Amino acid sequence: MRLAEVVNAPVILVGGLRSRLVMETLLHNSKIALLSLSRPLIRQPDFPKLLENGKAEKVECISCNACYKTDGHTCIFTPTPRWLCDN
Ligand code: SF4
Repeated sequence: MRLAEVVNAPVILVGGLRSRLVMETLLHNSKIALLSLSRPLIRQPDFPKLLENGKAEKVECISCNACYKTDGHTCIFTPTPRWLCDN
């Protein structure tokens, strides 16, 4: 977060973002411009929509990194992305 205070460019933070509280606190109380999610979106591609609709407060991803060992970076807990199951 200190980087965002000293550079004259938007800073995007990625890694370790697991809850609405943390994300909102970062956006409201620092100069971080944007947040980026990786593994949480592998497990829950619809997580931003769930956050927006108030249907989730925390990601389900447990940061086990097992998805990096699968073909195509698939979550071992949800091998078929939820958005495919809903259709
Ligand atoms: S395999 Fe583990 S780290 Fe990867 S998305 Fe699923 S819970 Fe998260």
